[in-house]
Amino acid sequence: MNIRRIDRTLSVSDQIAPSELGSVAAAGFQLVVCNRPDGEEPGQPTAAAVAAAAAEFGLTFVHLPFVGEPDLASIADMERLIGGERTPILAYCRTGRRSEVIARRAWALYASRTPSALATEDRRPVKQPAAVRSFDVIVVGGGAAGIATAASLLKRRPRSRIAVIEPSADHFYQPGWTMVGAGIFTDASTKRRTRDVMPDGVEWIQASAVSFDPEADTVGISNGLKLRYGALVVATGLKLDWDAIPGLAEALGRNGVTSNYRYDLAPYTDALVRDLKAGRAVFTQPPMPIKCAGAPQKALYLSCDAWARSGRLGAVEPVFHTATPALFGVADYVPALMSYISRYGVALNLKSRLVAVDGDRRVAVFERMSPDGTPQRVEEKYDMLHVCPPQVAPAAVASSPLAGADGFVEVDPVTLRHTRHGNVFALGDVASTTNAKTAAAVRKQAPIVASNVAAVLDGTMPTAQYDGYGSCPLTVERGRIVLAEFGYGGRLLPTFPRWLLDGTRPTRLAWHLKARLLPRLYWHAMLKGREWMTGTKRSV
Ligand code: FAD
Repeated sequence: MNIRRIDRTLSVSDQIAPSELGSVAAAGFQLVVCNRPDGEEPGQPTAAAVAAAAAEFGLTFVHLPFVGEPDLASIADMERLIGGERTPILAYCRTGRRSEVIARRAWALYASRTPSALATEDRRPVKQPAAVRSFDVIVVGGGAAGIATAASLLKRRPRSRIAVIEPSADHFYQPGWTMVGAGIFTDASTKRRTRDVMPDGVEWIQASAVSFDPEADTVGISNGLKLRYGALVVATGLKLDWDAIPGLAEALGRNGVTSNYRYDLAPYTDALVRDLKAGRAVFTQPPMPIKCAGAPQKALYLSCDAWARSGRLGAVEPVFHTATPALFGVADYVPALMSYISRYGVALNLKSRLVAVDGDRRVAVFERMSPDGTPQRVEEKYDMLHVCPPQVAPAAVASSPLAGADGFVEVDPVTLRHTRHGNVFALGDVASTTNAKTAAAVRKQAPIVASNVAAVLDGTMPTAQYDGYGSCPLTVERGRIVLAEFGYGGRLLPTFPRWLLDGTRPTRLAWHLKARLLPRLYWHAMLKGREWMTGTKRSV
């Protein structure tokens, strides 16, 4: 990071890595502006990844991307930030030059409208004490769970004042990233602007929640304000902990290291699979909990299928390391998956955890349990490495009074209501429940939380109940899927009768669901409060 000062309140820099946001905060910056569109080059951290890291340190993040010259609207946006409360500002792009252009033009515009700006030492107005704004419901997180719940709530209580706190300007359909990694979907098809998925009637607050005070019914956000709620819904998802594996963050995006768990890297998976003619292709899965426990295997199978179709499987040697003791947590699905492990000739390593990556030497280090119970370190050379990172609760949640011992929001598994705070709910990946952390689970949970939040606001008992449903469409080959659908305790909960779709076997129908129906269901039903395929009859 090479920071250049424009004036006392404005500096610019070349690309910032998510791991550098701590230093940015320590240097006293309040606001980080990204002037790069996502996906300009392989390995570029996404705006969402930098925004998430910024949030961890209480920094406000604004995505103001452009290529070439900034247009007038972007300059005006930048001018508003310069005149705002959150200064000093650090703007960045690939080299810092683009940010410098927009910063200098916006600064000139600001100074021409505010002559005192050039003269006074402290040009900013004296801060008024932060007002506490109130909402009937605050939803923290505008991902799959936050938007679906806000939309379902509005269907039940159209006049409720609802705020969604979400820092990212972009919203992602993450289940599509497996298909992007196999060249079946484009990356762009999995992304929308957050403003376009925000339900009408909801106020979007573009900030991160940084603190929770459930005794005072308030949430602190990254611009320094506090917001008060009648009911709170926590839907921040989880944090991908790339830094937990030494060497991994630096290695990603080059020299054959990739992950479908990042929007900007999923196309790199596809490129690597297409380009690899021979060598070792290593796929990894960390300890639970992770979102979509099948996704590391899906990347493995679809890659193997591509190599098999092009006659390269054999010359390419696939290897799978998983920290789990079995290939899949629900035994009914294991035989079908094991048949694909044999068919593709995958070297399967159970109870084997990635602990380090040396990107320059192309070596991954694993820790395995030896038969006598002592851990052993094993080095594995790779030509391609697909990593699923360890996953933890976001820091703002884990350090709050809402967290249980594991850092996730401690809720009743059936009502999704907090175990200690009656007007607080959580769903999606950040909830402490033991279901499969999937968008499919969110589809069922959102109407239940909406119904139970409405009950609490009306002073009645929450009665809607969640059975732990989650679903994992295991893409075992291009055109066929083993559709795992199960609830709490591994109980099978198939959507379709067995004669139509037997989820324990690979089927074409399940592939059509994943490739065609489910994305549409997500964008046009789930995020719009249309509770199709949820089993919920709206009564409140
Ligand atoms: P997210 O969708 O991740 O949203 C969380 C939101 O909270 C984000 O927008 C984030 O910016 C915001 N946020 C974070 N911290 C804060 C804060 N402090 N303040 C305010 N906002 C905050 N599921 C399936 O059903 N089927 C699949 O086939 C499938 N495949 C997958 C494949 C991959 C590669 C991946 C990565 C996921 C897959 N999933 C799948 C899982 C699914 O995408 C997630 O379970 C789902 O997105 C969870 O929704 P969520 O709202 O809890 O979290």
